[in-house]
Order: sequence, then structure tokens, then C-alpha cells
Amino acid sequence: MPKRKLITSALPYVNNAPHLGNIIGCVLSADVFARFCRSRGYETLYVCGTDGYGTATETKAKKEGTTPEAICQRFHQIHESVYRYFNIQFDAFGKTFAPQHTQTVQHMYHALKAADAFVEKEKDAPFCNDCDKFLADRFVEGVCPHCGYEHARGDQCESCGKLLNPEDLKQPSCAICTTPPEMKSTKHLYLDLEKLSPKLEKWLESTMGKHGWTLNARTTTQSWLNQGLQPRPITRDLKWGVAVPEAGYEHKVFYVWFDAPLGYISITQSACPDSWQKWWLEPENTELHQFLGKDNIPFHSVMFPSCLMNAQQDWVLPHRLNVTEYLNYENTKFSKSKNVGVFGTDVAELGFPVDFWRFYLLSVRPEKQDANFLWEDFFDKVNNELVDNIGNLVNRVMTFHGTRFSGPLKNVASALTEAQQEFVAHCVDATEKIAVLFEAGELKDALKQTMLLGKAGNKFFHDQQPWQVVKSAPEQACVTTTLILHLLRDLGVLLAPYIPESAQKILAMVGAPAACWSDIGNFSNLAGVSIGSAEILFEKLDVALVERLKAKFSGQSSGMELLDIRVGEILSVQDHPQAAHLYVQQIDVGQARPISVASALKKHFSADELVGKKVLVLVNLAPADLRGVTSEGMVLVAEKRKKLELFEGAAWQVGMACAREGYPSPQTPPAQISFETFSQQPFQVQEGKLMYGVDPVHVDGTPVTTHALQSAKVK
Ligand SMILES: [Zn+2]
Ligand SMILES: [Zn+2]
Repeated sequence: MPKRKLITSALPYVNNAPHLGNIIGCVLSADVFARFCRSRGYETLYVCGTDGYGTATETKAKKEGTTPEAICQRFHQIHESVYRYFNIQFDAFGKTFAPQHTQTVQHMYHALKAADAFVEKEKDAPFCNDCDKFLADRFVEGVCPHCGYEHARGDQCESCGKLLNPEDLKQPSCAICTTPPEMKSTKHLYLDLEKLSPKLEKWLESTMGKHGWTLNARTTTQSWLNQGLQPRPITRDLKWGVAVPEAGYEHKVFYVWFDAPLGYISITQSACPDSWQKWWLEPENTELHQFLGKDNIPFHSVMFPSCLMNAQQDWVLPHRLNVTEYLNYENTKFSKSKNVGVFGTDVAELGFPVDFWRFYLLSVRPEKQDANFLWEDFFDKVNNELVDNIGNLVNRVMTFHGTRFSGPLKNVASALTEAQQEFVAHCVDATEKIAVLFEAGELKDALKQTMLLGKAGNKFFHDQQPWQVVKSAPEQACVTTTLILHLLRDLGVLLAPYIPESAQKILAMVGAPAACWSDIGNFSNLAGVSIGSAEILFEKLDVALVERLKAKFSGQSSGMELLDIRVGEILSVQDHPQAAHLYVQQIDVGQARPISVASALKKHFSADELVGKKVLVLVNLAPADLRGVTSEGMVLVAEKRKKLELFEGAAWQVGMACAREGYPSPQTPPAQISFETFSQQPFQVQEGKLMYGVDPVHVDGTPVTTHALQSAKVK
């Protein structure tokens, strides 16, 4: 009986949206492995959820004037919807800020306490009387004793890079309220890793190498052991966290490194209240496979197992740690604040098939070193590997077989030529090797070998020339395509963990309903099956988009920063007293009073046509005197060969700002700009849309459109 597979992905911290690097780092990688395990026939449980506790959430809540819980709920939903979009198939997805989690952590605490695993230590820590709390090291600021930098933080000086303790700083102050903190004694509980280390080391020796932990997991863990393990605090002076069930600890919570890994257990308990024990308390029947990023190694290899193995019950310990390196974005770091890189929330908007993202991220999965997301590479791999190789093979063979032969597939096993036998042997051998790679968690290599198998299928089709052979020996041509249809089924199963939607389509086309590993490597078991009709699997991506996407996610500014363009409602229209071709309009743009705008719309629109319309108005154009009337703005219009059209939207609200798609609306445009500045802006109407450069202009999240003029200048 093979062991059950319990699979975890490191719990994402919920005070930000996940970027592509976070997604491939754990959640998506674990999903691929879990999907493989299910199709392989293993009893599988894939557990993940969000990690809510810690200083960063507490600080962010304070800044936004809300509660940490509200922040966590909001980001929990964002994470959940991003993962749903990515087709991540969790068996349990929960959160650490939940009553079950508190119960589990406190239970574990009592068990470890009974095992005498803790020591209490008292030390001085900076306390802010004004904020009425102890300050985390990085919330103390002061003068660096090494370089004199004035805003050094209590954990590290940003200027000279030296590591610091808060008490090293000269003229220390609270980073939140600037009051000088005082040192005050505080006690904390420590997990006595020094005492627990012999047992831990013995276990690590017997598991790391034997179960194929990734190299980074082994070396990082080994270097921790080499330095000698020290007691590590499990409590903190904070409010947002799991309460410590101990007298004298009423104002403290558990340190997040202690509670977060226990989330794997509490989330399983919440999802499977009646069966969680078989997943966590039967080490003889369950293997725990953990997926995480390299910054998380010691928490999973040292701290978490130290807790489990001393907690009075026979807990399932990690079987293998699958640790990824970092994915960077176009040779730099992802940054939400700088708008650099693609975040999970951007992906749905871009509208590419989700399998393209999954395929690309897995083919560059950062396994042995940091990797890069590159747009050019993304388009290249999707178009030239996925579409040209797999899409092409499916389409050619399905179409050819479907038009030339009818009826259910025949059993062709006994009628093979030497070349056909060789092809079958090659495929069987390759699928066996791919299975070994999957079992070892070598997800990138397994994908690479699967793609090579697709290439072998294309080559076989090409070499056998069934379109020629069919003229003289139709049975032989039919044998060739029947064999390749079996290979398509195998590819469907092999690719299902990576690109589940497309793989399901392949399987349906060849009449194999589900991805089942035990079917593959067999070239006669589709006999009697009627295949479906050929369906185009993928459309190629338009490479013309590459530059545009690069610019969009590069953190560059939108270019519209200077412009204050808003929705204004035309309240009244009068003839200009001095100029026969001008109107003077009063327009409500959401300011204290309406603005006056003189414009040459008279030839094109009657006053009645204009009143009540909501239009786009450039509000920060420097006021100009137009024959005795001060004009305080400009109504934007599309113009082509003396025809004019207004940009209008009945559902728009007065005062709404315009924004370039993919960029925030301008936050602080200057009070005035010249007409010349405006006329240099790259506005135009293309295919009925108002564009700024290559991107559509939005109001309230939807593009501004025209009806009459499909292409035009903007004035
Ligand atoms: Zn303070
Ligand atoms: Zn310094």
C-alpha cells in the first residue's frame, strides 16, 4: 500500500497581493505535485491557507485606520480569488486567524510545555510610554553608532548595513510617535532548541538525503546546525496573534514563526474534522511533502519538526522539503509599491488562457537558482513550444485520422513495423522516466521531458508520412495515427498537472475521460473507443504585445501625470457675447463651483444637445482670455475631417478621473498646464477607443469609446 500524500504549500502572508514569483514559489508547484499524486492513484490532501498574524499587519491596520482582522479578511479574499483563477485545486484552504487555529496552537503549547521544551528568559526591551507598547526592533529609530546615519532602524542601519540592537542607537525614538522609548524588562518563553537539537539532528540525518530534499534545503539546514542551535523566543509583546495561555502573558501573543506552521494542522482540522488524524497522526501511513521558498527553510526544517517531535503524540514529520529559489521580474525584483512586475490580480485582466501562465511559470520554475520572468521568453515558450509542439500535434493527428478513418479505434498492437515498435518502446521508456521525475518533485524536468515526448510524436508523424502511405496502404497509415492517438492520451495525462484545462480537452478528444496514470504507456487500451472531433487547443499570442506589456509592468509612470481630466456635466450653454462661433458653457466638474469654458462647438451642436451631457474636461488648463471671456478648461473632442464627436458616458459620475489602462489615475497633477503641454500628449482615437499612446483611456474602469468616429485626432 503506497503511503498517503499530505501536501502543503507555505502559507502566504496576507498583507499584499501575491506576485507571479509567490505563485510559482509554493502554491502552484504544490498544486502540480498534488494533481500528479491524485492521477497516480495516491490518496492525497493538499493543504494551504493564509497566514494573518504579525507586526506588519498590525502596522498596516494602524496606518489605514482599520483592524488587523479587516486587512487579513480583505487579502484572504484576494489570495483566494487569484488561486481560483490559476486553477489551484486545494483540498483545504483556510486561515490562521481562526478559532480552530488558536485551539491547535495552544494545545501544542501545552504538549511542549509538558515535555519541558521551553525556558523563560527576561530581558530589557524598548518600550514606548506614549504608544503603551513594546517596540519591535525595527520600530526604534536613532543615530547609527557606526556611521552616524540619523534614521537607522533598531535592527539594521540602512546606510552602512551593520546589524544593530535597539539599545545600540544614540538618541533612540519610537518610529510610530517619535517619543524616546525607555528600556523595560519583559519576559518571554523560548523554545529550547539547544536542548532539543540532538534528537532533531538524528532525525535530519536520517531523512534529508534519503528523501531527496532539495539541495538548498539541505545546505541551509546544515549551516544552522553547524552554527549550533540557540533557544528561540516563541512569544512577543504584540496584540495581533494567538493568545499565550499562561499567567503573566496576558499582553503577549505567540511569535508568528511558532504559530504559522501549525496552521497546516489547524486548517486540516477545520476542513476534515473527522479524518484529520489519519493525515497528521499516522506516520506509518502518511508522507508529508512541503513546498516553500528558500527564505522559509529553517522554520520547516528546524523549528516545525522540533515542535512536532516533542509534542507528546506521534506526529507526521516532514518527508521531503521542496524548496524553490526566487523568481525575479525582467532582471529586477517584483514590487507592488513601484508597480513593477505582474501580480496575481493583473493576470485575469490580461485575458490570456490560464494554462499559458501555468505552463510558462513551470517551465522556468526556479529550482536550482533564481530565475526570471521575461515577457519575450513567455511569448516564445507559449508560441514555439506549447502551441507549435503540443497544439500542432493534436491538431494534425486528430484532423488527419478523423477525415481518413471512421469507426472506433482498432487494436493495432500485433501489426507494428519495426519503426512503429521503436516508437512505442521509446514512449513507454520516456513515460517511466517522467514518473520518476514527478515522484522526486523534479517538476521542471518532468515538463521538459514531456515536451520532448510531444516532439517525438511530431517527428514520428512526419517520418511515417501517413498522408502518403494512406494512398497505397491505408491500414499502415491507420496504425501510425492510432499509435499517436495513444500518445496524445499519454500527453493528456502527463500534462494534466501543468495545464489541466487543455489536458482535459486532449483527453476528451481521444475519448479518455480522466487523467489516470495507470492508463499510460499502453498502446492498445484505446481500442474500441470512438475519438471526438478535432478542436483547436491554443491560439498563438500576438508578439506585437510584448513591448506594450513590458512598458506596462515596468513601473514607469503612465505619462498622464500632468493631466487633470475629469468627467464634467454641462449645466448651461450660452452664445459668446463677442465671438459668433463660440459657446460659453458652465460645467460642473465636481469642484465647489462650476467652471466656465469657451469652445468652438457651435457649428456642430445645438445648445440643447449639449446641456445635461457628461463629457471629458481638461480641468487644469491655464485660464485663457477668449475675447473677453475667461475660459477655465477645455472639453475634449474627437475630430476627423471637420466632424466632431464628444467623449461622453451617461453612467459616468461628475468628478471621476480618467486613467491610462493599467496605471492609477494621476494623483497630484499640477494646478495649471499650458495648451502646448496638452497638445504634445499622445492622445488619439483608434478603433473607436480613446487611446493614450498604446493603451486605452479608462473612466471608472471601462474604456472611453466613440460611436461615429472610429479613428480621429483628439482636441
Ligand atoms: Zn510610540
Ligand atoms: Zn550605520
